[in-house]
Amino acid sequence: MTDCIFCKIANKEIPTELIYEDENYVAFNDIAPKAKTHILIIPKKHIERFDEIESTEDLKLTEWLFTVAHKIIKQKNLHGCRLQVNCGKDHGQEVFHIHLHLLSNS
Ligand SMILES: [Zn+2]
Repeated sequence: MTDCIFCKIANKEIPTELIYEDENYVAFNDIAPKAKTHILIIPKKHIERFDEIESTEDLKLTEWLFTVAHKIIKQKNLHGCRLQVNCGKDHGQEVFHIHLHLLSNS
């Protein structure tokens, strides 16, 4: 998706400090943090929303967001956190490219 801000971050079209990156995922700080640590973890592949996933491949990619979150939690030595995925505008989703919020005040 050429007009997707998260695709642009994943493709390095928008310079962003990446907290984590591998072949399929990137993570970066939320621009409007709602906790001391507020990181967004996204698949590089554009998938709009969790509740509308149709393919097993996309579902697997999304499941692994939790594995990336776990790596970041260990790397940053966080104790206590909240993990959240918003699906749909009326449920707080602002960017329509799946992202897992990792919030922690530790
Ligand atoms: Zn996207």
